[in-house]
Amino acid sequence: MMLTQKVAENLYILDTGMFGLDRYDGVYILKAPRVAIIETGLSHTLEKILAALDELGIRREDVAYLMPTHVHLDHAGGTGHLAEACPNAKVIVHEQGAPHLIDPTKLLESVQRAVGPMFPFYGTIRPTPKERVLPVRGGEVFNLGGGYEIEVVAAPGHAPHQVCFFERKLRGLFTADAAGIYRPWGAGLLPTTPPPAFHLEQALETLARLKSFQPTLLLYTHWGAHTDISLLDQYAQMLQRWVAEIEQTKKALRDDHAVKEHFVRKETPLLKDHYPEPILRGEIEMNVQGILLYLRKVRGIT
Ligand SMILES: [Zn+2]
Repeated sequence: MMLTQKVAENLYILDTGMFGLDRYDGVYILKAPRVAIIETGLSHTLEKILAALDELGIRREDVAYLMPTHVHLDHAGGTGHLAEACPNAKVIVHEQGAPHLIDPTKLLESVQRAVGPMFPFYGTIRPTPKERVLPVRGGEVFNLGGGYEIEVVAAPGHAPHQVCFFERKLRGLFTADAAGIYRPWGAGLLPTTPPPAFHLEQALETLARLKSFQPTLLLYTHWGAHTDISLLDQYAQMLQRWVAEIEQTKKALRDDHAVKEHFVRKETPLLKDHYPEPILRGEIEMNVQGILLYLRKVRGIT
């Protein structure tokens, strides 16, 4: 069985199998003359990514760029390990995320706070040597040869240090977590609004910016390639509904714990086919917590 699946010319997706889930977390490999790996998965994904390179006939020395969209561990956890394995690869990451790849101590503490009991599922992250890191902030263009060019697009909202990548030849947009989670066989889009820095207005501005690139292919990390560009608008609407609903519930129930329990009860039947126990409760609580924090910090709702 093949590990990778072709989604466009010279572009492949690898299912990392995160949390034991099928088609939930992905890594993209763009087999241009200068190879780029977009996202690096959790740290325990390393062997699978290396096997995928072998399968595609790519030498590790030919990997030019590792491109985690942001430093959440399901996107960047494997970066340090991969940088060791691919000696010529530079790591492209937002300038606010770069320090956390170079010294991941604080990042790991923050993940532990955000995900609580789910922490063991998230693996670890090895430091990336400073000289391998190329910090970006949006607008930079990387020429991979063969007509492939990747532009960095600032994409705050889900996290302030998130970037998306727009590949000009394919008109493919790597959406990171800016366009939600897409479960291919189920309910379609799901929100991803974790603490500590989800910001609704920034997320909506990002979606408008992404749309302005006029992509023809949306390349979801969670999960897969989609030609339905209206997903960007659908997600903007979903986020606004999700925040409004949590705001209402918070005003009615006051207590954060009660709000989370409300949504765990409400969402569990809808999501139980999408997440295994014990991930399910943790995911719902995390997404609600991100909104509660936003409501407190930005709208003063305590
Ligand atoms: Zn994320």
